[in-house]
Amino acid sequence: MRCVRPGRAPSLRGVRLNGQVLILDADDTLWENNVVFERVIDDYLDWIAHPTLDRAAVRGILDDIERANAVTHGYGTKVFLQSLAECFEKLRERPATAAERDRIEELASALIHHEVELIPGVAETLDELGSRHELMLLTKGDREEQQRKIDASGVAHHFREVHIVPEKHVEVYRGLAAARMLAPESTWMIGNSPKSDIRPARAAGMNAVFIPNAHTWVLEHDELDEADERVLKLGSFRELVQHF
Ligand SMILES: [Mg+2]
Repeated sequence: MRCVRPGRAPSLRGVRLNGQVLILDADDTLWENNVVFERVIDDYLDWIAHPTLDRAAVRGILDDIERANAVTHGYGTKVFLQSLAECFEKLRERPATAAERDRIEELASALIHHEVELIPGVAETLDELGSRHELMLLTKGDREEQQRKIDASGVAHHFREVHIVPEKHVEVYRGLAAARMLAPESTWMIGNSPKSDIRPARAAGMNAVFIPNAHTWVLEHDELDEADERVLKLGSFRELVQHF
């Protein structure tokens, strides 16, 4: 993967592309998401204040629980609350009392009532991109929770289609390409997650735009092929208009 420069990438040829299909990720690409979870985890670690384990050790235990729960229960606030309660039980070697469960919910109230915070430049950029390209939204997680965020975002009208899936495997991308007869060379997956956006889209033959978010969840990290010239890496969402 590298920054595409004029003359280096046959897919861009140094000119702005027109008439592409742009599939956009939502959490941590259009709006902040994981940073809100991170703030809750910080408060939780303060509250747990384990007598022998340091914060990193407790965080490691929580990450393992979240990783396992993601496989069986998917993503979202509900499963996150469950992971916090399970982590408590493991550390204290007893289940949380009703009052302790209430406390955990209170710590996560920012998530439960979270208002969508668009990443700077997203609204204007979608306006411009939507005038030249076909935009689709592809997000994973709890259907109801994701839909609520999409409705609250104020940018849903830009997307011809919205897909909410439990997990973003390569089959999801292949299925979408086949169902919508998308030409891989003019289809781009745009997102912050190497694991859920970039790698599976590339495996399905699409191009990808990687826009890292400083707060990307550790479970979304993955290796990317630095030499892959069909991955465009950008520093911000706004930069998309320079290429599309
Ligand atoms: Mg994301």
